[in-house]
Amino acid sequence: MINKYVKDLMKFIDESHSQFQVCNNVEKRLEGNGYKRLNAADRWSLEAGGKYFISKNSSAFIAFEIGSENPAESGFRLIGSHTDSPTFKIKPNPEIVVDNSYVKLNTEMYGGAIISTWLDRPLSIAGRVSLRSNDVMNPEIRLIDIDKDLLIIPNLCKHQNRAVNEGSSFNKQEDILPIISLINDEFEKDGMLVNLIAKELEVKAEEILDFELYLYLREKASVIGLGDEFISAPKLDNLAMVHASLTGLLESDSSPFTKVIIANDNEEVGSRSKQGADSPMLKNTLERIVLAMGGDRENYHRAISKSFIISADMAHAIHPNYTNKSDPTNRPKINAGPTIKIAANGSYTSDSQSIAVYKAICENAGVKCQTFVNRSDMSGGSTIGPHTSTQLEITSIDIGNPTLSMHSSRELAGAKDHEDIIKTFIEYFNK
Ligand SMILES: [Zn+2]
Repeated sequence: MINKYVKDLMKFIDESHSQFQVCNNVEKRLEGNGYKRLNAADRWSLEAGGKYFISKNSSAFIAFEIGSENPAESGFRLIGSHTDSPTFKIKPNPEIVVDNSYVKLNTEMYGGAIISTWLDRPLSIAGRVSLRSNDVMNPEIRLIDIDKDLLIIPNLCKHQNRAVNEGSSFNKQEDILPIISLINDEFEKDGMLVNLIAKELEVKAEEILDFELYLYLREKASVIGLGDEFISAPKLDNLAMVHASLTGLLESDSSPFTKVIIANDNEEVGSRSKQGADSPMLKNTLERIVLAMGGDRENYHRAISKSFIISADMAHAIHPNYTNKSDPTNRPKINAGPTIKIAANGSYTSDSQSIAVYKAICENAGVKCQTFVNRSDMSGGSTIGPHTSTQLEITSIDIGNPTLSMHSSRELAGAKDHEDIIKTFIEYFNK
């Protein structure tokens, strides 16, 4: 039987085709659960037990429930994740006509996608569009998700690429641009995309000032395996952790400490943006919470000293066909529990103190956990954890669920693991 959390995760992924839709869907769920939207430009007045959220750039968010005690006395308990995933971003003026026949779109890569997994699959476009408004400084922002099999990146056939199965290499400008149409008499090639957006949003093409649009895979998330063991879905890195932290926040009881979840944007491209983990977004919000609760700068520092953050991002499971790619003694298995990520070079923030805390939380939640360390001759990825730690001196741990084919257009993780990590998040927020 498919667990309710897994079903809900798949629904969340199927509705969240760019980081803008991720945030929009999270905000709808927060509002449905009594969370109030805060505006950065307003003076905040918050109360004990109050539930709030703030959005940054419509692509990152922070949600929090104030504890029954002042943050200076009980601190913050945080979970961090990220809203973005590897994909392709559409460039301005994207239409390219080939041989007076095909129309393809000019794109650039966003993050480190496994390119071959994007080929020969129905794709569409999601993101946001900026429209002209009466106020020059505040264009109207509209989300867009074109619900149609719209684009495809066709492979070169085997006969014209005999070495295709010896490994694939792609020129990112020449080889992987998606086709959208064929030229015909009714079509204006110029402005084809803008005209499509205008039709979709029911506005005039002249009103469109700019767009941020990304490709997404049309195939829906699914559960796979004889015993429904696996979740196969796009963007599990890191929508699984956005979903798990949100569920943990919404399903936990009120606490003396202040519970916070944050999901940054731009993790896949280095976190350096106003909505990324390298920004002061979290630090400033935590300070504003303390001030709005009647505290001062000293109270803020006291609150920080009593805080803890879980940086939640997917981890690597041992691969059945490449078992030698894993560390010889730390070999995370799918559905064997959340995985603590450890690296001597600091690419993960876990230390023996924070690991002890999370292990105890797992024990109390009745959940087994595992450890991941890179092979010593391989460098792994990173997370928002080290970026957050350079902004905020908070004890931190990096964890995530074991995953296969990370950065593929469809990734594979464990159904039980998703349920288990949510149990640990509820436990963490409860006590
Ligand atoms: Zn990630």
